[in-house]
Amino acid sequence: MIASASDKPARQNSPMSIDQFPAVHLEVGYENVVAACPRCTTRNVYNRAEDIGSFRAITNRRVSCAACQAEFEICGDLVNPAFETLLLDSCDFLREKRHMQAVLSATTAYELFFSHVLRVELVYRPSRRDHVTERDDIAWLEATATSLRDKTARCTFAPMRRIFLRLAIDGTRPATLSDAEACIANIQAKPPVLDRAEIEQRTDDPFRKLLLAVHDATIADLRNNIVHKTAYRPALSETKAAVDDAYHTIFGLSHHFGLQSDDYHLNEPPDQL
Ligand SMILES: [Zn+2]
Repeated sequence: MIASASDKPARQNSPMSIDQFPAVHLEVGYENVVAACPRCTTRNVYNRAEDIGSFRAITNRRVSCAACQAEFEICGDLVNPAFETLLLDSCDFLREKRHMQAVLSATTAYELFFSHVLRVELVYRPSRRDHVTERDDIAWLEATATSLRDKTARCTFAPMRRIFLRLAIDGTRPATLSDAEACIANIQAKPPVLDRAEIEQRTDDPFRKLLLAVHDATIADLRNNIVHKTAYRPALSETKAAVDDAYHTIFGLSHHFGLQSDDYHLNEPPDQL
């Protein structure tokens, strides 16, 4: 557990019991959650991997303050998919003037979004739709998710974008397990370049505007300038433009596709598909 730089000086009071404080609502991030101690107001940063020991959403978990050792409960974690939490992180980094980190988070959010849509539309939803094909559900889900992961393992931003746009324009929604398996088998490691005019002709607003924004996004180029060799430090204007664009585009598409957490889609009501 690490207390932030703005913490008040530590107080050496004796530990207090959990029952003396109401549960504290978290400031949520992808890697960390932050909770202000209800006793001494120190902002405690809890790392999910190190301090929490789990990546599942936190519900009423008992923690202690790094400064005064008071014990209290934390609650109010997000259950959004990872790409949405990374977008929120990106906005926080922008406010903190950490432009490089803001671009890295928003670009990663884009890549996680592409993967999430494919997993939902080609694995989870076909499994929930198909009431006929006999199978061991867990075994099929694991095998098919692995097959999809293997197919796209070497795909960087640009090919993942093409795979996503093709699925989005074609409205690919496999109804059976065998249709889903065929869709995954047809994914190419080097998918052909997608013509912008095809998006304009085959889709309607507001979906069209969102897909064109994905097609035109240059955030991956900005990310590559940051992580490769030059360690480029972007100005506020270009960072804000890239992060705003990613935020509105990805949240808009997430709403369009009805995306939620993996856990939700594993049990998504079939009548809503
Ligand atoms: Zn405290």
